Order: sequence, then structure tokens, then C-alpha cells
Amino acid sequence: MNRYSIPQGRPVLSAIKPYVPGKPLEEAERELGLKNMVKLASNENPLGPSPKALQAILDKAGSINQYPDSSSRSLRLALAGHLGLSPDQLLIGNGSDEIFKMIALAYLTPEHQAVMAAPTFSEYEFVVLVAGAAARKVALKDFTHDLEAMQAEINHFTKLVFICNPNNPTGTIVTKAALDRFLAAVPPEVLVVLDEAYREYVTDPGFPDGMEYIRRGQANLIVLRTFSKIYGLAGLRVGYAAAVPEVIAWINRVKEPFNVNSLAQAAAMAALADASHLNLSCQVNEAGKNYLYQKLAELGLEFIPTQANFVLINVKGNSRLVYDQLLRRGVIVRAGEPFGLDQWIRVTIGTLGQMERFCHALAQVGDGS
Ligand code: PMP
Repeated sequence: MNRYSIPQGRPVLSAIKPYVPGKPLEEAERELGLKNMVKLASNENPLGPSPKALQAILDKAGSINQYPDSSSRSLRLALAGHLGLSPDQLLIGNGSDEIFKMIALAYLTPEHQAVMAAPTFSEYEFVVLVAGAAARKVALKDFTHDLEAMQAEINHFTKLVFICNPNNPTGTIVTKAALDRFLAAVPPEVLVVLDEAYREYVTDPGFPDGMEYIRRGQANLIVLRTFSKIYGLAGLRVGYAAAVPEVIAWINRVKEPFNVNSLAQAAAMAALADASHLNLSCQVNEAGKNYLYQKLAELGLEFIPTQANFVLINVKGNSRLVYDQLLRRGVIVRAGEPFGLDQWIRVTIGTLGQMERFCHALAQVGDGS
């Protein structure tokens, strides 16, 4: 067969680099012949899901012969009450990843550009390229979004601007004052996509609540949150977006009819109602963070103070090598190299026990032992 006879995909897709996920635990254990490895690579909740969410899944399991509620109505009602919004200001997705793609498909044509930070969450560039549009990347300044430079990058072709707050992989935040200034300057026809996946971990009082802008009717803003991080439901895939009803209606036009499965909808509602699991998860994160900061200071390693559940650490060497050495010691982290941070690793904050294991392994790697 002549290779030119193979049906070719859209040429723009050649520019897409495949997403590099955190290495799955079972795969790493199989490859290395190790047991009880620790995965600190995907910013998952180390406590697992809320027991109430697990019960809700069991209660719902007998009805999976039925299609799910196509608009996730009960979950939207629950979230609307929780956030002080109306249900028509909310859209539920198969993870927030799906909603980013829906936004790109609803808003971008190949003539358009989308502005985003670098490095930031790779999904933004991915969905922009899938839609055939161009990504304009603006370097972080002091590991934080440079909103002034991002504003300067906006032109006639700009349709979307992505802001990750706190930013993945740096854990830094855009303050309310900076966001206020930015939103006042952005043209009304440009949609600002504010990703608050890690907002529940934030302790800085200067952090803006994206929902406040939506409640006030800011028409060119869409705020995304997820049940994958502090709510511990990453495997079920539930995220949501809030915006004015007209923006939600545009995005709904590209929604698959049954995008969120019924177990995910039930579990998310139960998780939302379990404030004690959320509080405990915050406490565990704070304890793990403080322990990690102290150990890193003892090891003489620079790190970026985080507002999320992961920390960027300067390992003063090739991050791929450090990643490999940690892996062989049973700890999976993320090398900074794919983010353009060659000397840095990103580590999810786990339980104290997990942090002890990580710090012990890191100290060995530092020794060269
Ligand atoms: N936003 C950010 C900043 C993330 O780091 C992630 C998870 N990697 C997501 C969104 C995706 O969340 P979900 O699981 O809801 O698709």
C-alpha cells in the first residue's frame, strides 16, 4: 500500500504535541517491579473521595441502564445554591477539560488567536490548536501571570484569553486588584477564561473569587472549576463553568447530549454537600505543605511558595534525571522539562507520610546515592 493512499487528518493537527499525563501508579509499579509507590504527579486528593460520594455512586449504580440527565439539572441546581447563581448560568462537563474544548469549538475560527501564559496548563493550547486557531503565549513574570503583557498581546484577532488561577505548574496567583485592572481593559468581545481548578486550596486573602464577577453580570468572563482536585473525583470526570446565560447557551450548542455520566453527577452532588471532607483535605494540604517547606529549606532547595496542592522545586540539575531517580526510589513526580522548566520538578502535596517519603528520596538523590 502506498502511504499517500492513507487518509490524512487535518494539517493543523500535526502541530499538536500529545498530552503527557502523570505516570499511572500501576504502570510505574509494573515497569519498575516496585510495590507501594507514591504518585505525586497529578495533583490528586491524597485522601481519596468523600465517603458520601462513594455511597452516592453505590446508590445510583443500579440505574446505569438509563441515560444520564443530559443537562445535569440536579447538579446545576445544587451548584447554583452553593454559588449564588442561577442554573442557566452553569454548565457541567466531563471534567473541565471537556469544557475548555467546548469553549474553543464554540468561539474560535481559524482566523482567531487565544492568549495564554507560558508555562501554564497545557490543555489551553491543545484546544486552541484543535479548533484550528493560533495560541499566543506570554511568558510568566516572576513565575506569575504577566497580565499587562497579556493585555498588550490582545489584538483584533484575539477571541479568548486563558488565565489559570492559581497557575499550574507554578502555584502562583493573580490578585483581585490585578484581575480587576485586566477585566476593565479587555475589549468586551474577548472572552476571558478563568480556570480556578485549585481555588479551594488558596489561603492568600488577595485571591479573587471568579464567581463574584459572574454574579455581578461580567459578560465576557467564564469561570471554570472542577471536582477532580479537592473533591477527589478525578477518575469520574466532572467540571463546571459559570458565565452569563447567553455565553452558557453558546457553549451548550456544541455539547454532547449525555456528556456527564450519571454516577459522576450523583457523586459530585454528594461531594459538594460534604463540607467536612473538604475542610479535612485543606488541613492535610496545609500540613503537608508546611512539612515540605521546612524540609526543602533544610535541603537548601529553592521552591515557589504555592497557593495550590503542588509545589515547584528547583532541583539544581536536569529535571528528567531527578524524575528518574525519584521514580526508582518509588516516588512519581512531574519533571519540569516539558513545561520549559528544565531544572524544576512539580510535586503534589500529599499526606505527611507521603511527604516524608518524597523528602527522604529527594535527599538521597541530592546526595547522589
Ligand atoms: N485546570 C487545571 C489548571 C488543571 O491542572 C487540571 C488538571 N490537570 C484541570 C483544569 C483539569 O481538570 P478536569 O479533571 O476537571 O478536567
